[in-house]
Amino acid sequence: MDICVIGGGLTGLLAALRLSGTHQVTVLEMGDETGGCLSSYHLPNYTIESLYHHCFSGDVHLLSLIRELGLSDKLEWLHGSTGYMVNRQIYSLTTPIQILRYPLLSLSEKIRLGLFVLRSRRVNYGVLDSVTAKGYICDRLGDQIYHSFFEPLLRSKFGDRRDEVSAAWLMSRIAIRSDRGVEGERLGYLKGGYVQLIDALMSRLTDAGCRIVTGHPVVSATAADEGWIVDGVRYDHLISTLPPQETARICNLPLSPLPYQGSACLTMATSADPTDGIYWVNIGDPAPYGAVITHTNFVPFDRYGEHIVYIASYFSGAPPENCEELLLSDFCNRFSISREMIHWHRLRIEPFAGPVYVTGYRSMIPDPNPAPGLFIAGMFSPENYPERSMEGSVAAGEEIARRVMGWSN
Ligand SMILES: Cc1cc2nc3c(=O)[nH]c(=O)nc-3n(C[C@H](O)[C@H](O)[C@H](O)COP(=O)(O)OP(=O)(O)OC[C@H]3O[C@@H](n4cnc5c(N)ncnc54)[C@H](O)[C@@H]3O)c2cc1C
Repeated sequence: MDICVIGGGLTGLLAALRLSGTHQVTVLEMGDETGGCLSSYHLPNYTIESLYHHCFSGDVHLLSLIRELGLSDKLEWLHGSTGYMVNRQIYSLTTPIQILRYPLLSLSEKIRLGLFVLRSRRVNYGVLDSVTAKGYICDRLGDQIYHSFFEPLLRSKFGDRRDEVSAAWLMSRIAIRSDRGVEGERLGYLKGGYVQLIDALMSRLTDAGCRIVTGHPVVSATAADEGWIVDGVRYDHLISTLPPQETARICNLPLSPLPYQGSACLTMATSADPTDGIYWVNIGDPAPYGAVITHTNFVPFDRYGEHIVYIASYFSGAPPENCEELLLSDFCNRFSISREMIHWHRLRIEPFAGPVYVTGYRSMIPDPNPAPGLFIAGMFSPENYPERSMEGSVAAGEEIARRVMGWSN
């Protein structure tokens, strides 16, 4: 069978990996290189993800892939410290003592919050899909804890759409992010960068005879001759890993759009650490970004010789005007970093950075086989619900490959 995969991100590469060898697979990727959200910047002395990435101990499919690709010796488990910036002051919230010292919540509020987090793993997320995160938290923990603790987190991830987000998303996020000991959260990284995962996948795919075409934005796909004509070439099956609205546009099909948001992420190298040794600082004050993530407070600084900092923001619709300067000037002012201290910076705008997990999202997830010979999977797939991740995209790619094989047998 001739199979075309649109999109060379993790979902597309995994689908191609599982189908290559037994089928003739072509991956069409619009970017100059594969990797999608997991692609990297190549600097003279190191390579760094263009969007901050770490993995979790519960990532079954991803960790198994890392083993399969012979990368286990590169996988390291490091401590990810967290903090919170309020009134321009950074509070470290990594260890239990630091959390107890946090002045913006009372002791009884902290105890209630702690018990709530402990119970988060036992919650039935399915039931919470129709409840808003805001309503759920305010009902259980009160407005003060919601506004001073949860709202900034929701604002940093979903901006103006935060009030629509479901409690299922919030609770699963808390459960994923609560694998922590006294030194902080245990997070995984591939020594040398996740670029190695993409490189290893590319090498396996090439060995299996898969054709990978970069710099090819697919513009049209039409059902014909018991297959699909993609930009003029016929295939037996088509797998699209794009958001449903993009697949609908390219294939001229009536697929319902899903709520998506974009991300604008500024990566930079600085001569000073802006976040006082902390990896991930959420911003509680009004700012054009929701978090500042200092990669070199997670992965050892010596490997880079400069501080690597991400400024993370999400947007609905179009990114703000003059986004790069907006992020840069606010960051320099808020964190007392002068322009001379910034060695280089690059902005990445990702128009489809992930679904917005609004209430009722689960029932909006589209059929993975919406037309004969057409299969769809990606960040919107059930495997990526309720949190899109590398793990979810690896699992989604593998699952869609199984469906294609089931259909063609
Ligand atoms: C800011 C950010 C931070 C993240 N951090 C983490 C993290 O710490 N840990 C974690 O586990 N996950 C993280 N993720 C999620 C993870 O990166 C994604 O779930 C995963 O990489 C998505 O892979 P994908 O293949 O489903 O989608 P994508 O990576 O979006 O791949 C889709 C591909 O399709 C291509 N494409 C689009 N249109 C066309 C077209 N018309 N023709 C051809 N090609 C096209 C795109 O260029 C892209 O390469 C993060 C994501 C973002 C946005």
